[in-house]
Amino acid sequence: MTDTPADDLKIDLRSDVTVELVKSSATDSDVLFAARVSTVGEQSLDELKKDPERSKGLINYLMRDRHGSPFEHNSMTFFISAPIFVFREFMRHRVGWSYNEESGRYRELQPVFYVPGQDRKLVQQGRPGKYVFVEGTTEQHDLVSRSMEDSYRQAYRTYQEMLAAGVAREVARAVLPVGLYSSMYATCNARSMMHFLGLRTQHELAKVPSFPQREIEMVGQKMEEEWARLMPLTHAAFNANGRVAP
Ligand SMILES: Cc1cc2nc3c(=O)[nH]c(=O)nc-3n(C[C@H](O)[C@H](O)[C@H](O)COP(=O)(O)OP(=O)(O)OC[C@H]3O[C@@H](n4cnc5c(N)ncnc54)[C@H](O)[C@@H]3O)c2cc1C
Repeated sequence: MTDTPADDLKIDLRSDVTVELVKSSATDSDVLFAARVSTVGEQSLDELKKDPERSKGLINYLMRDRHGSPFEHNSMTFFISAPIFVFREFMRHRVGWSYNEESGRYRELQPVFYVPGQDRKLVQQGRPGKYVFVEGTTEQHDLVSRSMEDSYRQAYRTYQEMLAAGVAREVARAVLPVGLYSSMYATCNARSMMHFLGLRTQHELAKVPSFPQREIEMVGQKMEEEWARLMPLTHAAFNANGRVAP
């Protein structure tokens, strides 16, 4: 996080996103338990550790043949801090996700804004659906950083002026841009996570390539790290089967 002391209004500029796993009940055993109930009923929990290779094979079979429901009996809750434009894309994922986001009606929004980092490719080439992003020049990076900071500063100052004049937060917030950071809790299960990752990350193993915006991909990559740690067999099977959600 960078402070910008260009004038007396203090705003924070960030180029990163935060993803914290705050709660989880998610293991590979949850998948096996759910799958085996159909064949061995109530004894299925005892069966789990008897034959690890068979367990791995069963998860892979479920993934390959797209038997999806056994991947739903688990839960992961993330606290995510990212620009509003990322949340707009994120909340399009309706199935198997629950969201709660901070309110711009009930609290004063903090002056934390997004600027692309030096490693963020700035220039888009090609046609819709076939875009390629390439590095920006130093001049383009400077222009983007300067312009964004100026706009953010002006917008936040206007927001503050309206609040100081007694205007309601829910009205004054209209001037704030989508580069403003917000925060939310997002809860999902492994199946909805895989559907999200299939669409919102680019990966060499993906059978169906997607072209997500880099900033939501940054969130997806951090969530994937946490999920892979919790459910390594399921994660491996997802990759082995082309990163298509079952
Ligand atoms: C690279 C990229 C570019 C995009 N560009 C745009 C864009 O320009 N404009 C835009 O508006 N959106 C855009 N989107 C968003 C996209 O259209 C989806 O809304 C988003 O990816 C969520 O996918 P989903 O609906 O499959 O997920 P979910 O809402 O989680 O749904 C999961 C699955 O449930 C089923 N399902 C859910 N709801 C219904 C329903 N009502 N009827 C039938 N089946 C249902 C479907 O099988 C669906 O795949 C883009 C997404 C990506 C990844």
